[in-house]
Amino acid sequence: MRRFPLVLACSLLLLAPLARAADALLAPQVRATADGLIAAALDDELAMELVTSLTTEVGPRLAGTAQEARARDWAVARLTDLGFANVRVEPFEVPLWVRGDERAEILEPFPQPLAVTALGGSTSTGPKGVAGEIVAFPSLAALQAAPDGSLAGRIVFVDEPMTRTQDGSGYGVAVAKRRATAYEAERLGAVGALIRSVGTDSHRFPHTGQMRRLTEGQGGGVPTAALSAPDADQLRRALARADSVTVRLVLTPQLLPPSRSGNVVAEIPGREAPEDIVLAGAHLDAWDLGTGAVDDGAGVGIVVAAARLLKALPEAPRRTVRVVLFGAEEVGLVGAKAYAEQHAEALDRHVIAAESDFGAGRIWRFDTAVGPEALATTAAIRAVLHPLGIGPGSNTARGGPDLKYLREAGVPVAGLIQNGWDYFDLHHTPDDTLDKIDPAALAQNVAAYAAFLYLAAEVETDFRN
Ligand code: ZN
Ligand code: ZN
Repeated sequence: MRRFPLVLACSLLLLAPLARAADALLAPQVRATADGLIAAALDDELAMELVTSLTTEVGPRLAGTAQEARARDWAVARLTDLGFANVRVEPFEVPLWVRGDERAEILEPFPQPLAVTALGGSTSTGPKGVAGEIVAFPSLAALQAAPDGSLAGRIVFVDEPMTRTQDGSGYGVAVAKRRATAYEAERLGAVGALIRSVGTDSHRFPHTGQMRRLTEGQGGGVPTAALSAPDADQLRRALARADSVTVRLVLTPQLLPPSRSGNVVAEIPGREAPEDIVLAGAHLDAWDLGTGAVDDGAGVGIVVAAARLLKALPEAPRRTVRVVLFGAEEVGLVGAKAYAEQHAEALDRHVIAAESDFGAGRIWRFDTAVGPEALATTAAIRAVLHPLGIGPGSNTARGGPDLKYLREAGVPVAGLIQNGWDYFDLHHTPDDTLDKIDPAALAQNVAAYAAFLYLAAEVETDFRN
């Protein structure tokens, strides 16, 4: 992996003066074209039309299912109709986990139902479920500190909250319990586990999401579900009022033989350097509870609509713009890994990559992870984005989940950072639906992506240096 330690330390100091030199770096007609793309995007309704079409005509699209296959068919048809070149599916296999029945209830001393949903990858309780006394932990760290075998026959409850932030940084902390609780509870001898949902809302929608995927030879963890935030509050109050609270948990998901998934790729071939690739990503799969509008139908609409605006230019940009709609992101970045493997030989020709996968809020910050000599160019790009309300960020971008393996292989990335204040109210719940998307905010995203993709594909800058 390439690292730029000096840049990491100095980027914030460097960006301000560089921005003043920005205009000098871009030829006047290039700058004018970027400004024109922004103006066109703010009046363009394609992104909203695409996310409306995807969420209505396909709906939920869990990785490896027939629904996800329909989403690939949808994407191929739409990208072909829009006139992109080299539209194709790049297939791979994915473990197939499907949801079954899911319910929970307090048996004693205050009998009543609780709203739960199974975590992706959870094992089954069998149709009769499991029942046990609840043992609560305030954090994953507290659960991890408990001795092996100390909770035989019990049900673990990890009641750790998530902090609401604009940039989503609360998620990285909170998601650790979703990934690890099933396996920690198994180590303790528990028969099941509950977590407070990884989310920031106070609605009665539990949030699903993938558990840590196991390597061969490990146990599968105990059956594990997320409680909605109000139900976690309810269970906490019950525990405060009783010496012992007993819960029954029924989860009947199934792990089926590996199934087919795939990444959908479309291109605008570059006019001078077609082998050089500027990648714009989003993920096509979505959890099964909602219709995947903000996660990540919005991203699909944004990057496709932005690329379509570039396609409408009188001549293609110098470099190839490649749209990649990744499959099987939610279940462990399976499509991202497949892409990096299938394109391993060409990764050194991926000049920069960006992914839209943080909902439909406005972009407010432009991050990068590029070499020091490229900072002048990224400052120039940022100056073009400035009228959209986008300010300077860091040079420590991560670039979106599906870019993980590309970043690790040294591909420069950009982060067009959206306002995620409300994102985790909806994330992975039945409430992730189309009505949550503001068309004007979506258009602002399209404008930023269109200008960014065009400039990254038009300049001669090597973003690695
Ligand atoms: Zn996502
Ligand atoms: Zn997601």
